[in-house]
Amino acid sequence: MAEDSNSPDAGVGDPLDPAAVFSSLGNETRLSIVSALHEEAPDTPVQFSALYDRIDLDDSAQFNYHLKKLVPHFVTKTGDGYDLTAAGRRLARAVAAGTYTESPTVEPFDVDGACYACGESRLRGEYAEERFLIDCDACGESILRVHVPPTVVRNRSPTELLDAFEQWSIAQIEQAIDGICPECGGTVDPRVQTEIDDRIPFDAVAEYGCTVCGRRAVMSFGSIAYRHPDVQGFHRRREASFSDRRLWEIGQYVGGEGVTVRSRDPWLVQVTFLADGDACHVEIDGDLEVKRVEIVSDGAPAPEEESD
Ligand SMILES: [Zn+2]
Ligand SMILES: [Zn+2]
Repeated sequence: MAEDSNSPDAGVGDPLDPAAVFSSLGNETRLSIVSALHEEAPDTPVQFSALYDRIDLDDSAQFNYHLKKLVPHFVTKTGDGYDLTAAGRRLARAVAAGTYTESPTVEPFDVDGACYACGESRLRGEYAEERFLIDCDACGESILRVHVPPTVVRNRSPTELLDAFEQWSIAQIEQAIDGICPECGGTVDPRVQTEIDDRIPFDAVAEYGCTVCGRRAVMSFGSIAYRHPDVQGFHRRREASFSDRRLWEIGQYVGGEGVTVRSRDPWLVQVTFLADGDACHVEIDGDLEVKRVEIVSDGAPAPEEESD
């Protein structure tokens, strides 16, 4: 997911840059298209409809989108249909051999910050099988488990990886919230998703499905709430501020802390942040819109903050 669409053209001439190749082909549908064309003899073009039939995808617009991404570097289009270029064939052989699709692995390393669950500063990071994980060595809490593309990880030290991950994660969330697919720039449909991997500690998450490429950007309600300007203001004005914390230290952001499903029909999810004895309650509806931010001090609303 989230391959870099601005990456340099890959596959033109040799040697191929593995990172660029992965970036361009880091998608199951595109790999399937290359493989399907590779099964045909060279110079035997395949018609669009015949090619589409061979790919496990129900949406012809999405299929067309991914096919176009392969033209002209890996796939050529003639009057008779689609065929692999010479670079495409070399690539198909290499992909079949696993040469360029191997994902980097980063051995466990120390991560700055404290565990939101137990408060201990014994966090450990790891990257394997395209997932970035942060676990707490003290209490065993699984803090973070996120699909991160290898391009974010490659050629970076663990410290650089942590910085890059934070920036990448914020950019993904902000784009999706603004209605822009982080992968292709297409429009997205916001919805509440309840079918979630067992290892993720949420009853429901926010999902922005792209209407163009099909990418589903999934994030916590806490991350949507945290980004809201009124919530940022709440934290800025208090000593127990989040502004000097890393993303993975914020329980609302990475865990289910302070997140309550208030209603399922229609959806209403509340996220609460606490600081200096005050509470900031954020309500998010089924369209993933922030409907209300209320700041409460000692059980009473704090009106001076609401105009901000
Ligand atoms: Zn812990
Ligand atoms: Zn998209």
